[in-house]
Amino acid sequence: MKIAIIGGGLSGLLCALMLERRGYSPTIYERLSKLGGVLDSFKRKKVLFDIGFHYSGALEKGQYLYNSMQGLELLEKLKLEKYDGAFDTLYIDDEIFEVPLSSLEFKKQLQARFPKESENIEIFFHKCYEVSEISSKPEQFVKVDSRSLKDVMKDIKDEKLRKVFLHFTIFYATAFYEDASFDFYAKIFINMLDGTRKIEGGGGAIISALKESLSKTTIKKRSEVTKIFQDKNGVNALLCKDEKVAYDAIISTVHPKTTLKMFDDLDKKQRRYQSHIEDLEESPSFFSIFCLIDAQIESNLYFYGDEFISVLPSRIYKGKTVATILAGSYYSEYENLSEDEYKKKKEQECQHHLNRVRKLYDFGEIEVIDSSTPLTKQHYSNGSEGSIYGVLCSAKQKSLSVVMPRTRVKNLYFAGENIIAPGLIGAFLGAEILMNYFEEKK
Ligand SMILES: Cc1cc2nc3c(=O)[nH]c(=O)nc-3n(C[C@H](O)[C@H](O)[C@H](O)COP(=O)(O)OP(=O)(O)OC[C@H]3O[C@@H](n4cnc5c(N)ncnc54)[C@H](O)[C@@H]3O)c2cc1C
Repeated sequence: MKIAIIGGGLSGLLCALMLERRGYSPTIYERLSKLGGVLDSFKRKKVLFDIGFHYSGALEKGQYLYNSMQGLELLEKLKLEKYDGAFDTLYIDDEIFEVPLSSLEFKKQLQARFPKESENIEIFFHKCYEVSEISSKPEQFVKVDSRSLKDVMKDIKDEKLRKVFLHFTIFYATAFYEDASFDFYAKIFINMLDGTRKIEGGGGAIISALKESLSKTTIKKRSEVTKIFQDKNGVNALLCKDEKVAYDAIISTVHPKTTLKMFDDLDKKQRRYQSHIEDLEESPSFFSIFCLIDAQIESNLYFYGDEFISVLPSRIYKGKTVATILAGSYYSEYENLSEDEYKKKKEQECQHHLNRVRKLYDFGEIEVIDSSTPLTKQHYSNGSEGSIYGVLCSAKQKSLSVVMPRTRVKNLYFAGENIIAPGLIGAFLGAEILMNYFEEKK
């Protein structure tokens, strides 16, 4: 069976490795000159910066990601790093909440701080534990949990406590998002509290480990797929650099909206499917500042005021903290600018966020090394509107089951951050669920 994978980011490489383990020899098509997509790291002035990976949950021994990475022999190529103290520090309405690496400890701290809500906190954690197991077993992922976070939090009245819980939507949807899918919330919430780790070398190290592990995959870089063909038996070929190449199955890790535009001949039912996909709401877009901060920052700092802003430390370089400042931004404000206008707007926005962050915390000197706009993310993922995590992981959209690994076009499959969920957890889960459709070859 000839299988093509469109996209050489985290999900494309993962799908290739999992297919190899099942006896297949797939081909990856990557449109850029480098593998890694959004996850990769980059070096400027000899300093290593992270783009799309800072930390992840489910990495404690026995948890989902730890087990999956061990199963793929990736853990021996990577070094997990534990946070010494709180992994996140939240600044909410002049109060500080430190998030410890233990769900039981966090629950205890919250009950001490919000005694009137003690019982509701107990119930909330209990509901989260109930669905916190992450699993790619078919019986798990066909169950649709349509509850939103708002539904489950309805008895919690204290606004500040609600905000503390809502912080965790930032990892897969957007800040303080009450309509987020509760199912994925619980998985992120508990698995972060009990298993957050950094990975030495950041996203670049994950990509290198995946690349090194591949032995039967053909990798084609600078190879943009522009068309996908089908006949009555399903997809049968793709077009890359004017060459039509036959395949029995195609896995696209590229945004479903972008992928479906590659077909010239969708039938009526498939066009209806495309129109549902086109209607899906995206997660918001963002601005990143890659900088060196003259202070030792251990914990990820999240400032929730009128506008959200976060400071995510990666590592220490010559006594300074290598960090990314992340803030909300708008794709539409960059979309149609000339080169000069773009540069000017980018500089202004960078300055605006720096001014804000300096007022919130005494960081000492901040040396800006580089920055990126919503257009940068769009360039790396070829997705939709530079959205931070692609398709928004809302309760409504997840319960519609529109974006699942098996599509309405026969032998076309989806993987990647837009399908089940974003991030390392989402990419692994999506790829593992997808493997249920590819029989193990004897
Ligand atoms: C700022 C930021 C911070 C993040 N932080 C974290 C974090 O701390 N922890 C975490 O777990 N997750 C984090 N994430 C999420 C995580 O980085 C992504 O969900 C993940 O990298 C997505 O991988 P992917 O392979 O699904 O998609 P992508 O990385 O977008 O890969 C898609 C690939 O397809 C290629 N492509 C596109 N079109 C074509 C075409 N026509 N032909 C061939 N190739 C094509 C692209 O060039 C790209 O390489 C973060 C994301 C962002 C943006």
